[in-house]
Amino acid sequence: MAAKRDSKAKKVTGGCLCGAVRYESTDAPAGAAYCHCRMCQRQVGGPAGIFVSFPLDKFRVTRGRLKRYQSSPIAKRGFCARCGTPISCESIEHATTIAITIGSLDNPAIVKPSSHWGVESQLDWFEAGKGLPRNKTPEDPRVSKVAAKIRRGELLPARNV
Ligand SMILES: [Zn+2]
Ligand SMILES: [Zn+2]
Repeated sequence: MAAKRDSKAKKVTGGCLCGAVRYESTDAPAGAAYCHCRMCQRQVGGPAGIFVSFPLDKFRVTRGRLKRYQSSPIAKRGFCARCGTPISCESIEHATTIAITIGSLDNPAIVKPSSHWGVESQLDWFEAGKGLPRNKTPEDPRVSKVAAKIRRGELLPARNV
């Protein structure tokens, strides 16, 4: 009985604004972080992407499907094709976790961001998560090339996957 309650407590659900896409994780979030990089700012249309990570093998879409855009050679970003809600940022390589937009959780209060990424693009008026560890966007040329394009305001190719 107690075990059953535990597994229920760990289950996390969420979905898009219109409800066409729903997902669940049977495991608790593995962590959460701010990403201030220009790609995440563009994707979510806000000052930062704030993502919660779940173990990939515990996560599944339970209604509808994610439409995905490959934003760089190493990542694709999922969204609801009907209402446009950004849902995921997924590594194409050696992925063991999936990053999910914190605001799409049914209860975004269950987890708090514990670090910052992409601080080179942090907006000075966006003061959040003070005192947390701060990291720059990884220097991986496959990421930095695309990130530089976005900083220059160049268009990226349509690459739906
Ligand atoms: Zn939707
Ligand atoms: Zn980012």
